[in-house]
Amino acid sequence: MKKLLSIFTLLILTGTLNKESFSSEKADIIITNGTVLTMDNEKNVIENGVVVIKDNKILEVGQKGLEKKYKATKNIDANEGIIMPGMINTHTHASMSVFRSLADDVPDRLTRYLFPLENKMVSPEMVYLGALHGSVEMAKAGVTTVTDMYYFEDEVAKAVKKIGLRGVLGETVIKFPVADAKEPFGGIDYAKKFIETYKNDELITPAFAPHAPHTNDTEHLQIINKLSKEYNVPVLMHVAETEKESEFYKEKYNMSPVEYLDSIGVLDQRFVAAHLIFVNDNDIEILKKRDVGVAHNMVANIKSAKGISPALKMHDQGLRVGLGTDGPMSGNTLDIIGQMGYVAKLHKLDTKDRSALPPIKAVEMATIGGAKALHMEDKIGSLETGKLADVVIVETQSANMVPLYDAYSALVYSANASNVETVIVNGKIIVENKVLKTYDEKLSRKNMNDFKNKVIKIAETL
Ligand SMILES: [Zn+2]
Repeated sequence: MKKLLSIFTLLILTGTLNKESFSSEKADIIITNGTVLTMDNEKNVIENGVVVIKDNKILEVGQKGLEKKYKATKNIDANEGIIMPGMINTHTHASMSVFRSLADDVPDRLTRYLFPLENKMVSPEMVYLGALHGSVEMAKAGVTTVTDMYYFEDEVAKAVKKIGLRGVLGETVIKFPVADAKEPFGGIDYAKKFIETYKNDELITPAFAPHAPHTNDTEHLQIINKLSKEYNVPVLMHVAETEKESEFYKEKYNMSPVEYLDSIGVLDQRFVAAHLIFVNDNDIEILKKRDVGVAHNMVANIKSAKGISPALKMHDQGLRVGLGTDGPMSGNTLDIIGQMGYVAKLHKLDTKDRSALPPIKAVEMATIGGAKALHMEDKIGSLETGKLADVVIVETQSANMVPLYDAYSALVYSANASNVETVIVNGKIIVENKVLKTYDEKLSRKNMNDFKNKVIKIAETL
């Protein structure tokens, strides 16, 4: 100690520690003392790393000591946790939180429960409160960007903004009259208004969401494609999700759903396809050529026994693959941490190859892969200078995280959503010490239980 002090004195005397060394640049948030998984191109991992945030962007990422260069209004000690990019949910219907755990595993659930319930219950209020609750769950689980498809999508936008998440939100277009559009395909006009309102929003990317190929038609899918180019907004769609859908296109056109969509010219770099379970090698080639984003919903797909999407093959062939949960009536939970373990383990089982999907690949899909699927990789998905400040800290002190030899393994095989401690979106702290700061979680619980009583009454009549 004495020796250290004397060196320090010597440095001052010789002017090595001059005035400049003490001067500090301004920052808003500095995170120290954690393992930083940057998820950049080289997949750099920084032990005992530092992340510096200013305004809504990442200013610098580096090793211990970097924090001395800056003076921040908020300093966060990660306490040896994992500092990672915010996770991205590339496909959900958050408002369906109100129906979670209802009639799971009833064979004709979709026609017996879901459609009649939606007919009777979908309203701006239901959509808002359901999306709000879904956003509460996602925020606390470290999801910083949510991709959603539903009705009254402007209400979803209000909810997502209220909680402070980033959203890619698609207004549903479908060939039947629905709650927010009395005419078939009325969602197109609704979407246009929604897009015009939110086009320049800091957190919301508005989009078209044609429900699926077979619940739309060629003419309207082409209209949507044309409009998406004019507005430069994404198109979100369920594609090749069921065997029935595949059989329909086989019989009608002797094509797969992907071949059909390509034949009518609607696949492009604005398109994000969810599920893609029933795809062949030719479909994968088409999707790659058209630069389509892929939302892989493993848990929802296996729960409904639909099948395993060849998403790993797509990822390994260089397609843009992210993870999604699907709606809480399909996948039940909206967090991405819970997806990663299933994705890793089931692809291994499917390929009978233990090395097929190492944890780093699952974390990649959950972060930068999701960003690529949404064509937003220039803005989000990794911790790098200049990117938007969507940052998550996962604590490593809970019993299930101890001991920790490998951060990727711990995240994929050991962690769960309740290990998420801090969540920052667009430079703003929305979860701190596991507490949501933007909304009263108790109130959201009450909203859902009030809805539950209404749902039970209606479900009894079905
Ligand atoms: Zn879906």
